[in-house]
Amino acid sequence: MLDLLIRGGMVVTPAGTGRFDVGVQGEKIVLVAESGVVDLESARTLDASGKYVLPGGIEPHTHIATGVSPAWAGRSGVMTQSPEAASRAAAFGGVTTYVDFAGGMPGTENGDRTDKSIMSRLDERRSTFAGHSYTDFAFHYTLSGEVPAKAIGEIREAIQAGVASFKIFTTFDNKVGYGHLWAIFEEVGRSGGIMAVHAEDDDIVKYMEKKLVREGNDQGYNLHLVHNNISEDISFRKIVRLAEHTQTGIYFVHTTAKEGARAIADARMKQLPVYGEALHNYMHFTSEHYKQPNGTSVHTYPAIKFAEDRDALQEALADGTLSTTATDEYTTYKDVKLSGNTIHTVCGGHNGIETRLPVVYTKLVSTGRVSIERFVDITSTNAAKILGMYPRKGAIATGSDADIVLFDPDLKKTIRLEDLHADSDYSIWDGFECGGYPVTTILRGKVIMEDGQLLGSPADGRWLERSVSPGVLANPVC
Ligand SMILES: [Zn+2]
Repeated sequence: MLDLLIRGGMVVTPAGTGRFDVGVQGEKIVLVAESGVVDLESARTLDASGKYVLPGGIEPHTHIATGVSPAWAGRSGVMTQSPEAASRAAAFGGVTTYVDFAGGMPGTENGDRTDKSIMSRLDERRSTFAGHSYTDFAFHYTLSGEVPAKAIGEIREAIQAGVASFKIFTTFDNKVGYGHLWAIFEEVGRSGGIMAVHAEDDDIVKYMEKKLVREGNDQGYNLHLVHNNISEDISFRKIVRLAEHTQTGIYFVHTTAKEGARAIADARMKQLPVYGEALHNYMHFTSEHYKQPNGTSVHTYPAIKFAEDRDALQEALADGTLSTTATDEYTTYKDVKLSGNTIHTVCGGHNGIETRLPVVYTKLVSTGRVSIERFVDITSTNAAKILGMYPRKGAIATGSDADIVLFDPDLKKTIRLEDLHADSDYSIWDGFECGGYPVTTILRGKVIMEDGQLLGSPADGRWLERSVSPGVLANPVC
């Protein structure tokens, strides 16, 4: 007898979309069959008629339980929301896995200038989340500053232990210079990992900061002039060149400009294993919004650009140039988010993890720009592939984890702050009208959210060991 049978939904599987029944035994999917053909006993049956049955959303870019720079928060000791709160919001948003960070973050005191090994810092980070997450989780490991040879020597061990992806910044306090990057890329490439890169041209960023201060134009609403299109163009192309020389796979976090999308497209034309992510706020807002009252609430670094960039990102998600959507989840309360109002002090990130699936669906599927299959690719499957979790995650297929979301395309819902589940008092999506919404979330066979009720436990989520398949690192496969 099955533990769970999901009947009659429109199921998106790697082998095609159709009206299938999905059978779950324990934590795994054990059956995907034409609906109604097999008569099976099940302890519980969910009627999914009229709904999409999709692999649980994978959020590849979150900053949970991390120290907020005092320069941004206006005071010290502020943290982004806890794993309990963020993963609770995730469950309500149809997300079953998120990838956060271990290691150093810019602007905080926990950079890599410590003697602790990568593995011990990973263990510390894991213990912060274990027992406190409603959904599964993993970590990119952030390397920062002048990364010592000893740390580079530990990369292989970390990859073998299931870390799979390393994050670096090319700007901010913890930027890694190109010399050290060369060594890091070589070691990550050789060891079968992938680089997650926040690319900006530090020279241009710093030059523009000084210029705007000098000219009295350093208001926060000018952030897009600092973290600008040319900076993205130059930095993306330099990273691609370094990756080509070292045979390293690249995952560009938050592509923000048409120039970044173009650089990724050019690399992929050369069959380089280069992948790009877009954040859901960049698909909707433009830098014009910064000038509205409290307008920098929509800001995440690098910076939201122009209408043509917003449109180019959507087009790149539709045509296959970009592979994933994310939120850069970084939830604080409004007083922190709006504390700084200059180009040096506007707080990055936003309250995001819950809203990505409905926003992306509304922007791209409701408008007829992408298919439901492409929606699944850019919200789940591709992140699983690129970051080494596929086919355990990101697929409705026999043998995969039973991470499943029932998505109702007839539920037209206007997002209201009071309906969201983060520990926060603002949402940039308050008032946004969704063309569909997740109604049930299943994590490894357990229904953790159903019809607005949280049914999971913070003990449910587990850390995921990841390993990137060689094919993903050979060519751009998704
Ligand atoms: Zn980030």
